Amino acid sequence: MRMGSSWRWQLSRAMRLALRWCRLCHLQRGGRGGGSKPWISGRLLELWSYSKLLLQSLYYNSLTNSDTLLDCAFEPIYWIVDNVTRWFGVVFVCLVTMLTSSVVIIIYLFVLPTILSSYAVHWIVWHLCCGHWLLIMVVFHYYRATTTSPGHPPKDKIHIPSVSICKKCITPKPPRTHHCSICNICVLKMDHHCPWLNNCVGHFNHRYFFSFCLYMTLGCIYCSISSRDLFLEAYNAIESYYQTPPPDYTFRETTAHKSVIFLWVLTSSVAVALGGLTLWHAILISRGETSVERHINRKEARRLKENGKVFRNPYHSGKMNNWKLLFGVEKRSHWFTRVLLPSSHLPSGDGIMWDCTFTRRGPMAI
Ligand SMILES: [Zn+2]
Ligand SMILES: [Zn+2]
Repeated sequence: MRMGSSWRWQLSRAMRLALRWCRLCHLQRGGRGGGSKPWISGRLLELWSYSKLLLQSLYYNSLTNSDTLLDCAFEPIYWIVDNVTRWFGVVFVCLVTMLTSSVVIIIYLFVLPTILSSYAVHWIVWHLCCGHWLLIMVVFHYYRATTTSPGHPPKDKIHIPSVSICKKCITPKPPRTHHCSICNICVLKMDHHCPWLNNCVGHFNHRYFFSFCLYMTLGCIYCSISSRDLFLEAYNAIESYYQTPPPDYTFRETTAHKSVIFLWVLTSSVAVALGGLTLWHAILISRGETSVERHINRKEARRLKENGKVFRNPYHSGKMNNWKLLFGVEKRSHWFTRVLLPSSHLPSGDGIMWDCTFTRRGPMAI
Protein backbone atom coordinates (compact mmCIF):
# COMPACT_ATOMS: atom_id res chain seq x y z
CA MET A 1 0.00 0.00 0.00
CA ARG A 2 1.30 3.47 -0.84
CA MET A 3 2.16 5.88 1.99
CA GLY A 4 -0.47 8.48 0.94
CA SER A 5 -3.38 6.07 0.76
CA SER A 6 -2.18 4.32 3.94
CA TRP A 7 -2.62 7.31 6.24
CA ARG A 8 -5.99 8.16 4.70
CA TRP A 9 -7.16 4.62 5.36
CA GLN A 10 -5.87 4.81 8.95
CA LEU A 11 -7.71 8.12 9.46
CA SER A 12 -11.03 6.81 8.15
CA ARG A 13 -10.68 3.70 10.34
CA ALA A 14 -9.99 5.87 13.40
CA MET A 15 -13.03 8.04 12.59
CA ARG A 16 -15.29 5.00 12.24
CA LEU A 17 -14.13 3.68 15.63
CA ALA A 18 -14.62 7.12 17.21
CA LEU A 19 -18.21 7.21 15.93
CA ARG A 20 -18.83 3.77 17.34
CA TRP A 21 -17.35 4.87 20.67
CA CYS A 22 -19.72 7.89 20.76
CA ARG A 23 -22.69 5.60 19.97
CA LEU A 24 -21.71 3.32 22.84
CA CYS A 25 -21.52 6.32 25.21
CA HIS A 26 -24.94 7.45 24.05
CA LEU A 27 -26.40 3.98 24.56
CA GLN A 28 -24.94 3.83 28.05
CA ARG A 29 -26.49 7.19 29.07
CA GLY A 30 -29.91 7.10 27.40
CA GLY A 31 -30.57 3.49 26.45
CA ARG A 32 -31.17 1.51 29.62
CA GLY A 33 -30.45 4.00 32.44
CA GLY A 34 -31.03 2.59 35.92
CA GLY A 35 -29.79 -0.94 35.07
CA SER A 36 -27.98 -3.21 37.49
CA LYS A 37 -24.34 -2.81 38.60
CA PRO A 38 -22.87 -5.78 36.61
CA TRP A 39 -24.40 -4.34 33.44
CA ILE A 40 -22.68 -0.94 34.08
CA SER A 41 -19.29 -2.55 34.72
CA GLY A 42 -19.70 -4.63 31.54
CA ARG A 43 -20.43 -1.51 29.51
CA LEU A 44 -17.48 0.27 31.10
CA LEU A 45 -15.19 -2.62 30.20
CA GLU A 46 -16.51 -2.55 26.65
CA LEU A 47 -15.93 1.21 26.47
CA TRP A 48 -12.41 0.76 27.84
CA SER A 49 -11.59 -1.92 25.26
CA TYR A 50 -12.93 0.27 22.45
CA SER A 51 -10.92 3.27 23.69
CA LYS A 52 -7.80 1.10 23.72
CA LEU A 53 -8.56 -0.17 20.23
CA LEU A 54 -9.13 3.39 19.05
CA LEU A 55 -5.75 4.47 20.45
CA GLN A 56 -3.94 1.45 19.02
CA SER A 57 -5.54 1.89 15.61
CA LEU A 58 -3.66 5.18 15.28
CA TYR A 59 -0.24 3.54 15.33
CA TYR A 60 -0.59 -0.26 15.49
CA ASN A 61 0.17 -2.69 12.69
CA SER A 62 1.51 -6.25 12.52
CA LEU A 63 5.13 -4.94 12.45
CA THR A 64 4.77 -2.79 15.56
CA ASN A 65 6.80 -3.83 18.57
CA SER A 66 8.67 -2.15 21.41
CA ASP A 67 11.60 -1.36 19.06
CA THR A 68 9.31 0.53 16.69
CA LEU A 69 7.81 2.48 19.60
CA LEU A 70 11.29 3.35 20.91
CA ASP A 71 12.33 4.38 17.39
CA CYS A 72 9.30 6.68 17.21
CA ALA A 73 10.06 8.18 20.63
CA PHE A 74 13.70 8.84 19.73
CA GLU A 75 12.96 9.97 16.16
CA PRO A 76 13.57 13.71 16.91
CA ILE A 77 16.95 12.90 18.52
CA TYR A 78 17.96 10.67 15.57
CA TRP A 79 16.90 13.46 13.21
CA ILE A 80 19.13 15.99 15.00
CA VAL A 81 22.12 13.59 15.16
CA ASP A 82 21.75 12.64 11.47
CA ASN A 83 21.53 16.26 10.35
CA VAL A 84 24.46 17.35 12.52
CA THR A 85 26.57 14.44 11.17
CA ARG A 86 25.59 15.35 7.59
CA TRP A 87 26.57 18.98 8.19
CA PHE A 88 29.80 17.99 9.99
CA GLY A 89 30.68 15.75 7.02
CA VAL A 90 31.33 18.84 4.87
CA VAL A 91 33.40 20.44 7.67
CA PHE A 92 35.42 17.22 8.14
CA VAL A 93 36.19 16.89 4.41
CA CYS A 94 37.43 20.53 4.39
CA LEU A 95 39.49 19.79 7.52
CA VAL A 96 41.14 16.69 5.97
CA THR A 97 41.92 18.65 2.77
CA MET A 98 43.32 21.64 4.69
CA LEU A 99 45.45 19.60 7.11
CA THR A 100 46.83 17.36 4.32
CA SER A 101 47.64 20.43 2.21
CA SER A 102 49.36 22.13 5.16
CA VAL A 103 51.53 19.03 5.75
CA VAL A 104 52.49 18.89 2.05
CA ILE A 105 53.34 22.62 2.00
CA ILE A 106 55.51 22.32 5.14
CA ILE A 107 57.33 19.31 3.62
CA TYR A 108 58.02 21.22 0.38
CA LEU A 109 59.06 24.45 2.14
CA PHE A 110 61.12 23.19 5.08
CA VAL A 111 61.79 19.41 5.03
CA LEU A 112 62.63 18.79 1.36
CA PRO A 113 65.23 21.62 1.09
CA THR A 114 67.06 20.10 4.11
CA ILE A 115 66.97 16.62 2.51
CA LEU A 116 68.25 18.00 -0.83
CA SER A 117 71.06 19.98 0.79
CA SER A 118 72.35 17.48 3.34
CA TYR A 119 71.50 13.88 2.24
CA ALA A 120 73.40 11.50 -0.06
CA VAL A 121 72.08 11.08 -3.63
CA HIS A 122 70.53 7.63 -3.07
CA TRP A 123 68.61 8.94 0.00
CA ILE A 124 67.42 11.97 -1.98
CA VAL A 125 66.09 9.67 -4.74
CA TRP A 126 64.40 7.43 -2.11
CA HIS A 127 62.69 10.39 -0.40
CA LEU A 128 61.54 11.93 -3.68
CA CYS A 129 60.11 8.63 -4.99
CA CYS A 130 58.57 7.39 -1.72
CA GLY A 131 57.13 10.76 -0.67
CA HIS A 132 55.52 11.47 -4.04
CA TRP A 133 54.20 7.91 -4.42
CA LEU A 134 52.48 8.15 -1.01
CA LEU A 135 51.12 11.62 -1.83
CA ILE A 136 49.62 10.42 -5.14
CA MET A 137 48.08 7.34 -3.49
CA VAL A 138 46.54 9.38 -0.64
CA VAL A 139 45.08 12.06 -2.93
CA PHE A 140 43.77 9.52 -5.49
CA HIS A 141 42.10 7.24 -2.93
CA TYR A 142 40.64 10.08 -0.88
CA TYR A 143 39.16 11.69 -3.99
CA ARG A 144 37.72 8.37 -5.20
CA ALA A 145 36.41 7.39 -1.74
CA THR A 146 34.51 10.68 -1.34
CA THR A 147 33.16 10.89 -4.89
CA THR A 148 32.36 7.22 -5.65
CA SER A 149 28.83 6.13 -4.79
CA PRO A 150 28.89 3.11 -2.43
CA GLY A 151 26.09 1.49 -4.47
CA HIS A 152 22.34 1.29 -3.81
CA PRO A 153 19.72 -1.40 -4.52
CA PRO A 154 17.97 -0.74 -7.87
CA LYS A 155 14.55 0.87 -7.42
CA ASP A 156 13.19 -0.09 -10.84
CA LYS A 157 13.86 -3.85 -10.48
CA ILE A 158 11.52 -5.82 -8.22
CA HIS A 159 12.87 -9.34 -8.74
CA ILE A 160 16.24 -9.01 -7.01
CA PRO A 161 17.52 -11.43 -4.36
CA SER A 162 16.51 -9.86 -1.06
CA VAL A 163 16.54 -10.86 2.59
CA SER A 164 14.08 -8.24 3.87
CA ILE A 165 12.28 -5.02 3.04
CA CYS A 166 13.67 -1.66 4.16
CA LYS A 167 11.10 0.03 6.41
CA LYS A 168 12.37 3.49 5.39
CA CYS A 169 12.88 3.05 1.61
CA ILE A 170 10.04 0.48 1.16
CA THR A 171 12.30 -1.46 -1.24
CA PRO A 172 13.75 -5.00 -1.14
CA LYS A 173 17.09 -5.25 0.69
CA PRO A 174 19.66 -7.59 -0.95
CA PRO A 175 22.01 -9.53 1.35
CA ARG A 176 24.62 -7.36 3.17
CA THR A 177 22.58 -4.21 2.41
CA HIS A 178 21.76 -1.81 5.24
CA HIS A 179 19.94 1.48 5.51
CA CYS A 180 22.05 4.57 6.24
CA SER A 181 19.99 7.06 8.22
CA ILE A 182 22.43 9.90 7.44
CA CYS A 183 22.33 9.41 3.64
CA ASN A 184 18.70 8.24 4.04
CA ILE A 185 19.14 5.41 1.53
CA CYS A 186 19.98 1.70 1.50
CA VAL A 187 23.66 0.95 0.81
CA LEU A 188 25.00 -2.25 -0.79
CA LYS A 189 27.47 -4.16 1.44
CA MET A 190 27.36 -1.25 3.87
CA ASP A 191 30.38 -0.92 6.11
CA HIS A 192 29.69 2.39 7.87
CA HIS A 193 28.94 6.06 7.24
CA CYS A 194 32.25 7.90 7.32
CA PRO A 195 32.00 11.60 8.30
CA TRP A 196 35.64 12.12 7.19
CA LEU A 197 34.58 11.20 3.65
CA ASN A 198 31.06 12.64 3.98
CA ASN A 199 30.01 9.42 2.25
CA CYS A 200 28.92 5.91 3.07
CA VAL A 201 31.49 3.14 2.74
CA GLY A 202 29.89 0.35 0.74
CA HIS A 203 30.42 -2.16 -2.06
CA PHE A 204 31.83 0.23 -4.70
CA ASN A 205 34.11 2.40 -2.53
CA HIS A 206 35.24 0.01 0.22
CA ARG A 207 38.61 -0.54 -1.52
CA TYR A 208 39.16 3.22 -1.93
CA PHE A 209 38.34 3.80 1.75
CA PHE A 210 40.69 1.09 2.99
CA SER A 211 43.53 2.10 0.62
CA PHE A 212 43.13 5.72 1.73
CA CYS A 213 43.41 4.70 5.41
CA LEU A 214 46.42 2.50 4.65
CA TYR A 215 48.33 5.04 2.54
CA MET A 216 47.45 7.93 4.85
CA THR A 217 48.85 5.95 7.80
CA LEU A 218 51.99 5.05 5.82
CA GLY A 219 52.31 8.69 4.70
CA CYS A 220 52.04 9.94 8.30
CA ILE A 221 54.61 7.38 9.50
CA TYR A 222 56.91 8.42 6.65
CA CYS A 223 56.51 12.14 7.50
CA SER A 224 57.04 11.71 11.23
CA ILE A 225 60.16 9.54 10.71
CA SER A 226 61.72 11.80 8.07
CA SER A 227 61.07 14.99 10.06
CA ARG A 228 62.14 13.51 13.42
CA ASP A 229 65.63 15.13 13.44
CA LEU A 230 64.24 18.45 12.29
CA PHE A 231 61.56 18.22 15.00
CA LEU A 232 64.17 17.67 17.76
CA GLU A 233 66.20 20.59 16.39
CA ALA A 234 63.13 22.83 16.26
CA TYR A 235 62.05 21.75 19.76
CA ASN A 236 65.45 22.68 21.24
CA ALA A 237 65.43 25.95 19.30
CA ILE A 238 61.97 26.88 20.63
CA GLU A 239 63.10 26.12 24.20
CA SER A 240 65.97 28.60 23.68
CA TYR A 241 63.49 31.37 22.67
CA TYR A 242 62.98 32.12 26.37
CA GLN A 243 66.68 32.47 27.25
CA THR A 244 68.18 35.82 28.01
CA PRO A 245 69.45 37.22 25.75
CA PRO A 246 67.06 35.62 23.22
CA PRO A 247 68.74 33.90 20.25
CA ASP A 248 68.87 35.80 17.00
CA TYR A 249 66.54 33.78 14.76
CA THR A 250 65.07 35.23 11.58
CA PHE A 251 61.31 35.17 10.87
CA ARG A 252 61.78 32.34 8.34
CA GLU A 253 63.66 30.25 10.94
CA THR A 254 61.03 30.71 13.68
CA THR A 255 58.27 29.89 11.17
CA ALA A 256 60.21 26.76 10.13
CA HIS A 257 60.56 25.65 13.78
CA LYS A 258 56.86 26.06 14.55
CA SER A 259 55.80 24.46 11.26
CA VAL A 260 58.03 21.41 11.78
CA ILE A 261 56.66 20.92 15.31
CA PHE A 262 53.09 21.17 13.97
CA LEU A 263 53.98 18.68 11.21
CA TRP A 264 55.52 16.13 13.55
CA VAL A 265 52.81 16.30 16.22
CA LEU A 266 50.01 16.09 13.63
CA THR A 267 51.48 13.25 11.58
CA SER A 268 52.48 11.21 14.65
CA SER A 269 49.01 11.51 16.23
CA VAL A 270 47.24 10.69 12.96
CA ALA A 271 49.60 7.74 12.38
CA VAL A 272 48.64 6.25 15.78
CA ALA A 273 44.88 6.95 15.56
CA LEU A 274 44.41 6.08 11.90
CA GLY A 275 46.83 3.16 12.22
CA GLY A 276 44.55 1.62 14.86
CA LEU A 277 41.48 2.13 12.66
CA THR A 278 43.26 0.67 9.62
CA LEU A 279 44.33 -2.37 11.64
CA TRP A 280 40.76 -2.91 12.83
CA HIS A 281 39.44 -2.74 9.25
CA ALA A 282 42.23 -5.10 8.11
CA ILE A 283 41.06 -7.64 10.73
CA LEU A 284 37.45 -7.27 9.54
CA ILE A 285 38.48 -7.72 5.88
CA SER A 286 40.46 -10.86 6.80
CA ARG A 287 37.30 -12.25 8.43
CA GLY A 288 35.13 -11.32 5.44
CA GLU A 289 32.95 -9.02 7.55
CA THR A 290 31.86 -5.40 7.36
CA SER A 291 31.63 -3.20 10.48
CA VAL A 292 27.83 -3.64 10.54
CA GLU A 293 28.12 -7.42 10.10
CA ARG A 294 30.64 -7.61 12.93
CA HIS A 295 27.89 -6.69 15.43
CA ILE A 296 25.23 -8.85 13.76
CA ASN A 297 27.54 -11.89 13.48
CA ARG A 298 28.71 -11.58 17.08
CA LYS A 299 25.10 -11.58 18.29
CA GLU A 300 24.24 -14.51 16.02
CA ALA A 301 27.31 -16.48 17.15
CA ARG A 302 26.29 -15.97 20.80
CA ARG A 303 22.72 -17.05 20.09
CA LEU A 304 23.84 -20.20 18.26
CA LYS A 305 26.38 -21.02 20.95
CA GLU A 306 23.60 -21.05 23.54
CA ASN A 307 21.85 -23.66 21.38
CA GLY A 308 25.06 -25.69 21.04
CA LYS A 309 25.68 -24.68 17.41
CA VAL A 310 28.59 -22.95 15.70
CA PHE A 311 28.25 -19.82 13.60
CA ARG A 312 30.00 -19.63 10.23
CA ASN A 313 30.17 -16.43 8.25
CA PRO A 314 28.78 -17.21 4.76
CA TYR A 315 30.81 -14.37 3.16
CA HIS A 316 34.20 -15.54 4.46
CA SER A 317 36.17 -17.03 1.57
CA GLY A 318 39.46 -17.54 3.42
CA LYS A 319 41.88 -14.81 4.54
CA MET A 320 43.83 -14.41 1.30
CA ASN A 321 40.74 -14.69 -0.91
CA ASN A 322 39.01 -11.96 1.11
CA TRP A 323 41.92 -9.61 0.38
CA LYS A 324 41.96 -10.61 -3.29
CA LEU A 325 38.22 -9.91 -3.50
CA LEU A 326 38.61 -6.51 -1.86
CA PHE A 327 41.50 -5.36 -4.06
CA GLY A 328 40.16 -7.08 -7.20
CA VAL A 329 43.32 -9.15 -7.61
CA GLU A 330 42.78 -11.79 -10.29
CA LYS A 331 46.40 -12.45 -11.29
CA ARG A 332 49.79 -11.87 -9.66
CA SER A 333 50.58 -8.66 -11.57
CA HIS A 334 47.42 -7.06 -10.13
CA TRP A 335 49.14 -6.78 -6.73
CA PHE A 336 51.38 -4.20 -8.39
CA THR A 337 48.97 -2.52 -10.83
CA ARG A 338 45.83 -2.56 -8.65
CA VAL A 339 47.17 -2.31 -5.11
CA LEU A 340 50.46 -0.40 -5.27
CA LEU A 341 49.39 1.95 -8.08
CA PRO A 342 46.22 4.04 -8.44
CA SER A 343 43.55 1.97 -10.19
CA SER A 344 39.88 2.69 -10.95
CA HIS A 345 38.77 -0.92 -11.60
CA LEU A 346 35.35 -1.96 -10.32
CA PRO A 347 34.98 -4.52 -7.49
CA SER A 348 34.00 -8.06 -8.42
CA GLY A 349 30.25 -8.65 -8.32
CA ASP A 350 27.38 -6.20 -8.39
CA GLY A 351 26.82 -6.04 -4.61
CA ILE A 352 23.35 -7.60 -5.04
CA MET A 353 24.15 -11.27 -5.75
CA TRP A 354 26.50 -12.90 -3.23
CA ASP A 355 28.25 -16.22 -3.52
CA CYS A 356 27.83 -17.81 -0.09
CA THR A 357 30.79 -20.02 0.81
CA PHE A 358 28.79 -22.47 2.95
CA THR A 359 27.25 -23.89 -0.22
CA ARG A 360 30.75 -24.88 -1.35
CA ARG A 361 32.24 -25.90 1.99
CA GLY A 362 29.46 -28.02 3.37
CA PRO A 363 26.33 -27.04 5.25
CA MET A 364 26.30 -24.49 8.07
CA ALA A 365 25.59 -25.71 11.57
CA ILE A 366 22.20 -24.07 11.79
ZN1 LIG B 1 16.57 1.89 3.14
ZN1 LIG C 1 25.60 7.18 4.72
